[in-house]
This record gives sequence, C-alpha cells and structure tokens, in this order.
Amino acid sequence: MRVINWATSVVKNRSRAVPRPAWCTYIVTFRCNARCQMCDSWQMEPGEELDVAQVRDVFSKIGRLDIVRLSGGEPFMRTDLPQIAEAVLAASRPGIIHITTNGSYRKRVEAFIREFPQPSRLRFMVSFDGLEEEHDANRGAGVPFRRAVDTVQTIAEMRESHGVEVSANHTVISPQSLADNEGLRNRLAEWDVDVHSVLAYAESSMYGLSLHGQSADHLIVPKGYPLHPKLDGADVVGFVERELERAGDMRNFMLRWGKRYYLKGLLSRLTNGQEPKPNPKCVALRSHIRILPDGSVPVCQFNTEKVGNLRDQSFDEVWHSEPTSGARDWVDGCPGCWAECEVMPNAIFSGDILKPQ
Ligand code: SF4
Ligand code: SF4
Repeated sequence: MRVINWATSVVKNRSRAVPRPAWCTYIVTFRCNARCQMCDSWQMEPGEELDVAQVRDVFSKIGRLDIVRLSGGEPFMRTDLPQIAEAVLAASRPGIIHITTNGSYRKRVEAFIREFPQPSRLRFMVSFDGLEEEHDANRGAGVPFRRAVDTVQTIAEMRESHGVEVSANHTVISPQSLADNEGLRNRLAEWDVDVHSVLAYAESSMYGLSLHGQSADHLIVPKGYPLHPKLDGADVVGFVERELERAGDMRNFMLRWGKRYYLKGLLSRLTNGQEPKPNPKCVALRSHIRILPDGSVPVCQFNTEKVGNLRDQSFDEVWHSEPTSGARDWVDGCPGCWAECEVMPNAIFSGDILKPQ
C-alpha cells in the first residue's frame, strides 16, 4: 500500500470528499458449482460477464489500486480467470490480489499460481462451513470438504517456492458448524494455515435472490447483529470471546490486527452495545468500489442498486454522476454494517484501524 496515497484517502474519506478507489471487489461471476443453502449465487441468472479485454478496459479506467479482491460465485468456474487476473495486474498494479474460492478446482488453482507472473501478490482464501459432514451437507456433492482441504494443502506447499499466501474462511452456519470450528483449525494446522471465522448473516442483498438489486435496509441495524436464524440459541458470544483470545496466534501480522478489530466489533454488536464499537466511517463508493460480473457498479454488499456500468461509461461518468452522489448520501446516512468484506476496507481507509479500541 502506498502510504501517502493511503493518508490522502483517509483524509478525504473522513471529510466526505471523494477519493479515487484504492480497494476493488470484483465479482467475476455469480455462477457456482456449490449448492449452499444460505447463498443463492448458484441459482442466479448468470447474466453477462466481462471478457478479458473488457476487464482490462474497466481496470484501466479505474487506474492504480492497492487491493483487488476477485470473488464469486466460484471464480475458478471461469477458465479465463488467469487472464482476468493478469489483465487486472497489468491495468491496476495492485499490491495484493485476493481470491476467494470454495477450493473445488485444485488443479486450476495450482496451474494459476505456477503461471501467474507475480504469484507473491496472490492471497487465497478457501471457504469452509465446518468439518466434512456439515460442510458437504450444506454445499452439495460438487464441492466436497476433502477437495477443499487438498486445495489448501496444495497452496500451502507452494508458499515457499512462489510466495503465495493461503488462509481458510469458516462461515459458522449452525450450532454444528460452530462445534466443528476447533476440529477445522486442528485439521488445517498441519500446514500452518490460519482460520478466520465469521457468523452467517441472516440474508444478503448481493447473494439473496429476493433482495438482489435492492437496498436491504432491514439488515443494516444501528445496534445488534442480524444473525442467521439457524444460529438461534448457539453460544455465539462465547465463541467470539474464544476467537478473540486466540487471534494473537495468527501467523500473519496484518491479518492478526484486522481480525482483532473485526471480532471486537462483532462482540460489541452481539452483546447489544448501545453504541457498538468500533464503527468506522463507510468508504463504499469512495475508497472501495465493487464491480459486478457485467461491469456494473453497485453501492455495497447490502445495497445492490447500481449507479453505473464501467463497461459502457467512463470512470468519471460513473464516479461523479448524480446517481452515485445520491448513493453516497445514502452511505453517509447508513448506521453501519458488520460484514467482514465491508468492515476491512472501511477500517483501513477511514484510518479507524489505527485507533486504540
Ligand atoms: S457461499 Fe460461496 S460456495 Fe456457496 S454457493 Fe455461494 S458463492 Fe458458491
Ligand atoms: S456500512 Fe457501508 S457497506 Fe455497510 S451497509 Fe452501510 S453503506 Fe453498505
């Protein structure tokens, strides 16, 4: 991350000016070979997807970025993902390209790392729902637990030779999933792989069929946390307290810092703090831009109304338009969410992550 640019972004975000984006979350496809019960991505109409030339064009319009997150659906369902990532690298030169995957395409992941021109910029996050029985029951036969573990192992074994990094994401989706957390950690400890845990949200405007394209205001609450109903009665507070105690064991210093920040905010919301803390200023449509598979730009994870499309419009037309300015007013009035994929850019580019919590 370029320190002067970061400091400028922080000042602009805090004063409600409009910086250029530094962090981009690009959903390369909504298609997915999993059949998760808590996500409708696999049921969505795939719709149009930018081809490689269009990806290069869109990222050239955005310009230099610090972090690009390539997400899905399952990104590796796109056989042109290596070319997409190379186009992003050439156009925006991000220091980090973060890829979330369900780990079902082990060979594609391995070939991608081997052939990528700068593999030390790659950070993989492989997602799990628990141990074998729970994971497979939720995700379906196409993405078995064992294959995801194999993918983690493959990437972990390439750390030294290629400079690539890997971690696991455990979405806690049920009491059984919560009980599996310890076993999952032990399983992946064999390769010294950190496990991040998040508690399933009740719904999502990005991945819920009924809310897609809309603003899910009922999920954005000034206090509390919209926990998925399947977690009713589970000891989520005890779980997060234990997570906080061992956050210091994470191998990566930056992740350790970020994880503590996220968990403190999660605990504050789960225990119904009147003014949950931390609560960073949101940088959606400022330092953080999201791009959907067809090049359109939504507001954020919980408001997928679109403000423009970078395939057809210039960057300035999208970034300085009336709809975008109106959406920024909506962001400024938002009480805040606690989805990790939004919390981290907000914490970093508001500067809040540096405040003692
Ligand atoms: S949660 Fe991830 S793996 Fe499961 S269907 Fe949604 S995008 Fe696919
Ligand atoms: S805090 Fe930001 S990312 Fe979260 S719901 Fe509000 S506007 Fe969207």
